[in-house]
Amino acid sequence: MPQLMQDWFIEAMDSTGSAVGFRVRKKLEDVTTPFQHIEIYETTDFGNLMVIDGCIMLTGRENFFYHEMLTHPVLCTHPEIRQVAIIGGGDCGTLREVLKHPGVKSVTQVDIDEMVTRLSEKYFPELCESNQDPRATLLFEDGLEWIENQPENSLDLLIIDSTDPVGVAEGLFEHPFYKMCFRALKPGGVLVQQSESPLLHTALIADMQEKLKAVGFRSTDWLHFPQSCYPSGWWSTTVARKGGQLKLPYPPETINLKTRFYNREIHQAALAKPAFWRN
Ligand code: SAM
Repeated sequence: MPQLMQDWFIEAMDSTGSAVGFRVRKKLEDVTTPFQHIEIYETTDFGNLMVIDGCIMLTGRENFFYHEMLTHPVLCTHPEIRQVAIIGGGDCGTLREVLKHPGVKSVTQVDIDEMVTRLSEKYFPELCESNQDPRATLLFEDGLEWIENQPENSLDLLIIDSTDPVGVAEGLFEHPFYKMCFRALKPGGVLVQQSESPLLHTALIADMQEKLKAVGFRSTDWLHFPQSCYPSGWWSTTVARKGGQLKLPYPPETINLKTRFYNREIHQAALAKPAFWRN
């Protein structure tokens, strides 16, 4: 249950017996849309903070870990990727990172809630700096409905940058959605999804791998990286490929990307599995 006490925004989670918090100077926005409750705070040390339905989404200071790790490990190892879609991602940070890859020809971002993007333009303008790129299309609709209407074999990469698997995002972690993603991806196409904390949500990560395999993805994996604003400070992405093996180990060619966290060594480290993971 989220709390705002003595100038701190604290996301306290009864289910995990832990909390994440930031000291705040003031609340900048408090908006209830047809889909969710969005709050923006100015923090003392981490820039602006976005909260959706009481859950911390991002801060200005450290969102680059998440956005870089959701995109570059796959885009650097699968240079054949041309047509990309992002489901969720309304803050536009993932879109910005995808567009750093010159081989990408088009990116469609589909977020259910236009207000997330409008508030990001105002309070996180650096994340929205590539929104006018001619390769980008921003749509505001339910990703579940959108994917159903995509032609078969039409996408090279599908990135699911959603909120936690509750409320409007719940269906984005279920079999029927994965089946539609599989259908929309080209043979050899890749799916990447944020998959919560390897410490707190180990079962969810294992469950996602099973569900993805059950709908036909032959090759799946997951990567991990630090993310201080999310529960446990340790986060993950799950990756799956339609036909063919994932080519995740870093390729020998040098890739020239302007990043703050991601590089060759981080890429390799993100693929290493903790001793407790049995696969
Ligand atoms: N990095 C964040 C995290 O892991 O907490 C996610 C950030 S991004 C702001 C999450 C976005 O997913 C929100 O903007 C929300 O509107 C969107 N979203 C949730 N369910 C959705 C759905 N069914 N279709 C499209 N977008 C959805």
